Amino acid sequence: MVLDNLGSSLRGSLDKLRGKSRLDEDDVQEIVKEIQRSLLSADVDVSLVMDLSDSIKTRALEEEPPGGTSARDHVLKIVYEELVGLIGESTEIPLESQTIMLAGLQGSGKTTTSAKMAWWFSKKGLRPAVIQTDTFRPGAYDQAKQMCERAEVDFYGDPDCDDPVQIARDGLEATEDADVHIVDTAGRHALEDDLIAEIEEIEGVVQPDLNLLVLDAAIGQGAKEQAQQFDESIGIGGVVITKLDGTAKGGGALTAVNETDSSIAFLGMGETVQDIERFEPNGFISRLLG
Ligand code: GDP
Repeated sequence: MVLDNLGSSLRGSLDKLRGKSRLDEDDVQEIVKEIQRSLLSADVDVSLVMDLSDSIKTRALEEEPPGGTSARDHVLKIVYEELVGLIGESTEIPLESQTIMLAGLQGSGKTTTSAKMAWWFSKKGLRPAVIQTDTFRPGAYDQAKQMCERAEVDFYGDPDCDDPVQIARDGLEATEDADVHIVDTAGRHALEDDLIAEIEEIEGVVQPDLNLLVLDAAIGQGAKEQAQQFDESIGIGGVVITKLDGTAKGGGALTAVNETDSSIAFLGMGETVQDIERFEPNGFISRLLG
């Protein structure tokens, strides 16, 4: 059965349905309340939680469980389908030559993610290169360089140049033998106009096939504004959630996916280059409800 790692109170409510073949309004109400509690504490946007619970409630009461299906399994299936409908399958990442640009606030994990993704592509038999255009954060160059050395992938950055657009241009030229170009950009503490202008300019030079928004799993309700702004300026095709090795559940990613009409591409699970996973809805949904 899908969703095997449910939180104990939700599992408790579901277990009460054991042996039942039909759900009444009170059963559904109790389960929906547990789901709301789990999703809100996982930082899922309030209005998304409300929309979801309405759909779950309606379907659970209106749809007949197919023959042989218990009420418990029926409602679980509805919950899963509704969440998958919102989150979607993972962003398609073709294993071919391409350019991917990373966007996000400072500290979200962009630099780490760029090296991790390069490692991931190299394991798939491609030749990736990371181009580090973050001239704003002290240490970004050294950090990216070291991680790329550890991942044994090509790297370009220029600590003596303070023009990110120039670095992007030079970087593409210097790494022209690579198949996959991963362009890391500068984040700031908040979305400032000059940051947006800068990333738009870099995008013009790099012409990425895909822009990924990198979000810290702990972002919570703040995901909405970031997602809107980056989507408006460069167009977001997918989301990366980092720091899922911590306690945060990453519910903000749902908001971002919803706002940008995109999907989740990768998950960051730690600080080293191998700590990256492709998104997979089942595990993520179990975690959200856990
Ligand atoms: P940037 O400013 O967006 O480039 O963020 P960094 O890549 O420098 O990441 C900020 C901090 O978060 C660093 O200390 C990273 O080691 C850490 N970090 C990034 N991704 C992860 C992750 O998946 N798990 C954990 N535990 N830490 C991470």
